[in-house]
Amino acid sequence: MTVVGHLINGEIIAADDRTQDVYNPATGEVSKQVALASRATVEQAIAAAQAAYPEWRDTPAIKRARVMFKFKQLLEQNADEICALIGAEHGKISHDAAGELQRGIENVEYACCAPELLKGEHSKNVAANIDSWSEHQPLGVVAGITPFNFPAMVPLWMYPMAIVCGNCFILKPSERDPSSTLFIAALLKEAGLPDGVMNVVNGDKEAVDALLDHEDIKAVSFVGSTPIAETIYSTANANGKRCQALGGAKNHAIVMPDADMDNAVAQLLGAAFGSSGERCMALSVAVAVGDAAADALVSKMQTAMQDLKVGPCTNASNDFGPVITRQHQQKVVGFIDSAEQQGANVVVDGRNPQIEGHENGFFVGGTLIDNVTVDMDSYAAEIFGPVLQVVRVNTMQEAMDIINNHEYGNGTCIFTRDGEAARYFSDQILVGMVGINVPLPVPVAYHSFGGWKRSLFGDLHAYGPDAVRFYTKRKTITQRWPSAGVREGAMFSMPTMK
Ligand code: NAD
Repeated sequence: MTVVGHLINGEIIAADDRTQDVYNPATGEVSKQVALASRATVEQAIAAAQAAYPEWRDTPAIKRARVMFKFKQLLEQNADEICALIGAEHGKISHDAAGELQRGIENVEYACCAPELLKGEHSKNVAANIDSWSEHQPLGVVAGITPFNFPAMVPLWMYPMAIVCGNCFILKPSERDPSSTLFIAALLKEAGLPDGVMNVVNGDKEAVDALLDHEDIKAVSFVGSTPIAETIYSTANANGKRCQALGGAKNHAIVMPDADMDNAVAQLLGAAFGSSGERCMALSVAVAVGDAAADALVSKMQTAMQDLKVGPCTNASNDFGPVITRQHQQKVVGFIDSAEQQGANVVVDGRNPQIEGHENGFFVGGTLIDNVTVDMDSYAAEIFGPVLQVVRVNTMQEAMDIINNHEYGNGTCIFTRDGEAARYFSDQILVGMVGINVPLPVPVAYHSFGGWKRSLFGDLHAYGPDAVRFYTKRKTITQRWPSAGVREGAMFSMPTMK
């Protein structure tokens, strides 16, 4: 059986590591194995990156950017193969995989702007004959640890910008769907990237611990669930590394009584069930203001859900595919069970979808649960499945208080026709990414992505302008070239311009 290996120093290698099964979630069958890097394998990758660093650091930014131009072309040329690899291991349908890849490519496009982004600041004559400037220098070898749900896009949030800023990179992708991530990273060699600048080590906690412990790793970008994000952040900090750790989410949409209800239902449908709800920006809770809005929402949603098509990625007319593992399928079903046991009303039940020819796949059908309350387990947790819960409230302020009291603050949205309400909402809500009649307010590549509260540990958001700051350190240089005529003597007071 094929073993997905590592990319170290420009070569795909199969090391003498432990392995783990990789599944096709649409059939439930094991399709490959993935190598789980030992500490020695990780150290080999770090050594390769460290060796490549001095020359890469001194390569002009425009030459580094040219690699990204070529990389973008290669990603586009290989899009079908990449999407097929994503589908085979993640399960998402080709249209959704293509969207993920396109969002990743947009980060590569932004990385092509590196010479502009790295220009720095310059002040002439900060004092007589003294000039001062600030520049952004790379950190060295940096690492990224990524989740299963966007095997192409989330790694592309990280390494194009890190590399173009002059760093070398070690990526530790999700062990559950490693093939597309490795395939994409290997294209960088064809794009002209010197060996060792980009490395991929597949693996689990052992590989992550080896990265966190190693003194040559200067910064860590993490995206995944909140408990792991929190541990990674505190360990990286304790080990003196810069860290940004993006965690889980529970994204609420407020449905106001004045909302265009047909539009709200259509938008919610895609945002709740697209990618089987396995998106950190999935809208998983609709907070309806007033019973009239709630009744209309539930009834229209119930009707719309009759047309939802769940099935394998090989049929492009499906709306969404399976969830990632059997264990995760059981977890999602468990949350639907618990909501029902705790008094909620399961209006559309996706617990036993019948997918002909895919009886052993990890499928959960679209599920709609009404009358959910904030004390229920299914409300508190990030379900990460195709489940939309409806919470009923009487006022917009009550809806906002619910959102503000939740531990997560990744994304949110309000459906309304009232500009004043929308403005108040976007100003006062304690969430990092806000949509106004936009269900998935995922920032474009030239803005940055990040949640608030326990959805992000660290100061800088992912990709966009924050990524330049994260992957560089500022140096400020003050210079004078004294000429014989204007030499000053020793000065013992603090230099000022007074
Ligand atoms: P996960 O936390 O299980 O895994 C993420 C990464 O951490 C993987 O590479 C995994 O191998 C590694 N990991 C897992 N357990 C570890 C441990 N004990 N020690 C060290 N490393 C460990 O997350 P997942 O299930 O792959 O992805 C889904 C989660 O990611 C969801 O919570 C989702 O909301 C979140 N996510 C967040 C964002 C965001 O931008 N905030 C984006 C995508 C996904």
